[in-house]
Amino acid sequence: MSRKDNSARTYGQTPYSPQLETLMLAEFANEPLTDFTVPADRQAMGAALERARGEFGRAWPLAIGGERVTTGAWIESFDPCQPDRVVGRVAAADRGHAEHALNAAWQAFADWSRWTPAARAGVLLRAAALLRRQKHDFSATLVYEAAKTWVEADADTAEAIDFLEFYAREALRLAETQPLTPVAGEHNELVYLPLGVGVVIPPWNFPLAIALGMTAAVLVGGNCVVLKPASLTPVIAARFVDLLEAAGLPPGVLTFLPGSGAEIGDFLVEHPRTRFIAFTGSRAVGTRLYERAARVQPGQRWLKRVVAELGGKDAIVVDETADLDAAAEGIVASAYGFQGQKCSAASRAIVLGAVYADVVQRVAERTEALRLGPAEDPATQVAAVIDGGQYRTVLDYLDVGRREGRLVLGGEPAREPDGSAGWYIQPTIIADVPEDARIAHEEIFGPVLSVLRATDFAHALRVANNTEYGLTGGVYARDRRRLEQARAEFAVGNLYFNRKITGALVGAQPFGGFNLSGTDSKAGGRDYLQLFLQAKVTVERF
Ligand code: NAD
Repeated sequence: MSRKDNSARTYGQTPYSPQLETLMLAEFANEPLTDFTVPADRQAMGAALERARGEFGRAWPLAIGGERVTTGAWIESFDPCQPDRVVGRVAAADRGHAEHALNAAWQAFADWSRWTPAARAGVLLRAAALLRRQKHDFSATLVYEAAKTWVEADADTAEAIDFLEFYAREALRLAETQPLTPVAGEHNELVYLPLGVGVVIPPWNFPLAIALGMTAAVLVGGNCVVLKPASLTPVIAARFVDLLEAAGLPPGVLTFLPGSGAEIGDFLVEHPRTRFIAFTGSRAVGTRLYERAARVQPGQRWLKRVVAELGGKDAIVVDETADLDAAAEGIVASAYGFQGQKCSAASRAIVLGAVYADVVQRVAERTEALRLGPAEDPATQVAAVIDGGQYRTVLDYLDVGRREGRLVLGGEPAREPDGSAGWYIQPTIIADVPEDARIAHEEIFGPVLSVLRATDFAHALRVANNTEYGLTGGVYARDRRRLEQARAEFAVGNLYFNRKITGALVGAQPFGGFNLSGTDSKAGGRDYLQLFLQAKVTVERF
């Protein structure tokens, strides 16, 4: 960052002034992933895990208006691989805290909204640098709090760094003079202004990348945030709130407000002083929140913006021209990475009849070889699911799946009866699943793959599109005409050919889904920041 950044931190300037003070920035590039076969990196991660264990049980207060507040009520965060281990606990807010939080955030908005874009971007860039330095410590928290394997945790942290770097640059781009058609005798100008105070509600499955990404995008535009972290992963959120403050975010701009959806979720969403909501999570919660946010409350002076990214029932199609080994590899990586708990996870494989048996066999061989175990073990490829609730939900679906299709592999818990050994479920394949089966339509969010047979490629696409969702999808084929047909007809926000369907890269593969997968906000893309800004046009005749 250039020296100019310090001078840019001046107050009282017009927000989004076209006279942008510049930051010397290299072009955005994705953060490299760690190669844990390198002994030094392996040791560094091992040491970070030890430090994380040393912090088990630590208590984190709320952060409201720049003050740390304890409430007497706590939310405990457990290690899914060893649920008797308390990773940490956070103070639980009630409605009184939520009311106070909104008021304090609006107070902070008066100042933060007037920082120059360069100064705000500077906070994100410093946060990225700090996060890069401490990346294994953040990843270690993800290993224990979310049961992410080393590789998955490292990818989550790298993506969080990407969001900070990318959105900082985007804020600077949007602060430039915006192109308008010239009109003789008039000067026309368009500037992007922040909306105000919004509520950010992230899911637990990318508790660093998505939660920090949404928060950073909202903040860098000059908005203030009330962050209600997911109750299963609040510790990593508490850590990044501290990180942003260490990077220079003024106290009060970001409120840390853990609490139950029932107690404070609806309250924040319905509150007349909430200007917008950035939500990522399930279809059930997202649609409820969308409806509630639409109602204009007494005293409310705006229509609330709602960005809602929801679930998926993502499919990979394999035809007879495909490289079947590559297809099997991609299906297994997409279905079982992070125990299938990704919105982008492949939960359906749709395979043409001629290669059906062959693909099922290749997928089963690779799935059987996956190593199940505690996330802290670097050799583990599949760890525990997030908690007891999700564990029971997945097991219920396995019962349904046994009735609806043919169990090829797995289908059982992999857990000690005394309950101490973690919420493990065997990676499962259910084949011969009919098109109208529940497990072909409902998001399971666990290590369960349904395999469906298609008669021809057109049929495969019809089956793929036979869902209320439309998030990710994939095709393994060598036939160019079929790939082009899929490009035109496969109704998903993120479509992949001849590769896995998870792991979208910030900047390269903006992410968001169609239909009931959400508002297609394309996180990590050039359309994202504007969702939290409003454009003002000033026309001067001379
Ligand atoms: P969830 O809907 O249960 O919870 C999401 C968030 O909403 C959490 O922070 C939760 O505490 C909060 N919440 C719950 N009730 C609330 C209420 N009444 N008011 C306000 N907030 C409330 O989802 P989850 O289990 O955390 O995450 C998994 C889901 O997220 C899956 O469906 C997955 O597909 C989806 N997801 C989607 C994307 C995407 O980009 N489309 C990315 C990741 C996850």
